[in-house]
Amino acid sequence: MDDLHRLTISEAHQLLKGKKISSVELTRACLKRLAQAEKKVHACVTVCAETALKQAEEADKAVSGGKVQPLTGIPAIIKDNMCTRGIKTTCASRILENFVPPYNATVVEKLKDTGIVILGKANMDEFAMGSSTENSAFFPTRNPWDLDRVPGGSSGGSAVAVAADEAIYALGSDTGGSIRQPAGFCSVVGMKPTYGRVSRFGLVAFASSLDQIGPITKNVADCALVMNVISGHDPHDSTSVPDPVPDYIRSLVPDLKKLRIGIPREYFVEGMQPEVRVIMQTAIARLEELGAEVDWDVSLRHTKYALAAYYILAPSEASANLARYDGVKYGFSYQDTSSMWEAMEKTKQFGFGAEVKRRIMLGTYALSAGYYDAYYLKAQKVRTLIKQEFDRAFEKYDALVTPTSPTVPFKLGERVDDPVQMYLSDVCTLPINIAGIPGISIPAGFVDGLPVGMQILGKHFDEATLLRIAFAYEQATDWHKQKPPL
Ligand code: GLN
Repeated sequence: MDDLHRLTISEAHQLLKGKKISSVELTRACLKRLAQAEKKVHACVTVCAETALKQAEEADKAVSGGKVQPLTGIPAIIKDNMCTRGIKTTCASRILENFVPPYNATVVEKLKDTGIVILGKANMDEFAMGSSTENSAFFPTRNPWDLDRVPGGSSGGSAVAVAADEAIYALGSDTGGSIRQPAGFCSVVGMKPTYGRVSRFGLVAFASSLDQIGPITKNVADCALVMNVISGHDPHDSTSVPDPVPDYIRSLVPDLKKLRIGIPREYFVEGMQPEVRVIMQTAIARLEELGAEVDWDVSLRHTKYALAAYYILAPSEASANLARYDGVKYGFSYQDTSSMWEAMEKTKQFGFGAEVKRRIMLGTYALSAGYYDAYYLKAQKVRTLIKQEFDRAFEKYDALVTPTSPTVPFKLGERVDDPVQMYLSDVCTLPINIAGIPGISIPAGFVDGLPVGMQILGKHFDEATLLRIAFAYEQATDWHKQKPPL
């Protein structure tokens, strides 16, 4: 069978279950596609062809033994900030360039239990700090829709691997938009679950109060299937909640009757690309046709403070989390000196890239005595206001809809010298992490062949409603079926 790499999870599962194809065949097809596409897109930092084929053989055995679950034998790519036992986990940083974890992240362990085939590890912005995957210490990843443009970030490698059909699905992580923004830029589906829905154990920490792991997939049903496996309580992560996890597949009903959707005007920001605005208006009108009651003019007036608050909170937490890379316990260690202090200093100097150092300095400054109250504490207060505002909005609306990004993917190099311009790529996504609510980005159209994503936001732990809206919209459109001209 040709083109097996193009299959979705559900399609591949049907074929595997019906013994029409084997996981080994599917894995070979993906590896072949990956080898071709990588020459152009550079989405992977590690490819594990040999172990992937072994896992595929195991999965085939499970299938013949009648033990086939929805993700059994399906090849995927994991962002390189999730620990994989025996496979390098670099965070796209020199400081972890040769780090091989002795354990699996809980999400990886859960996927292993269902028979995952791990094709490799995806490129990213170093320590997930960035919006374009240009901050990788190794190489930038390119957008398959236009190789001169960025794929978004920081989960750029994961989004590209799925968009370019290298992998059937991928995992990303999202601290301020890192799943949704690249999903939007690459025309795939990306979900940031509610804070606490998915275990963060084994995810290399960036900003612990904001980080979440989530799926990047070719369609909404696949997103639900991955969510079913990775969600739930984990005794290793005290921030994961013990509430029961619904079967997300059951939320996929293609009508939106009686659903109240609000459109917050602050997300249609100044400087937004006019074509993106038009695409959003058309997409929202589609939701109305599908039966949703749309309120076109909702106001969330604290939104304008979210970016500033995020760039205090995230670097503050990062500065504490990254203190562990001292060259003593693991990772890169500068040895060529007789003094311990100099060794630590040089380890960080040569081990971290410019953006990571910038965040550590920003965070250390914001947390230092005398500035703590003025910056960190104030940002925490703003955080509460933003969260309360969302809570109030969700008393009236079942969901809110916004663009995922104010523009289409920008050119490589265009924003690297201007951190503030780069930070602005996330204006629409980072308030969601600040409030801890779930968000999903789905394909909503194209401007001159470049993808535009629509973001849907919901109440804490109401991923089901997001998936329902996303599914209904997807059924009524065919953006998700279009493939990049690779
Ligand atoms: N682009 C944002 C940042 O650089 C968000 C990154 C993320 O979600 N990991 O902090």
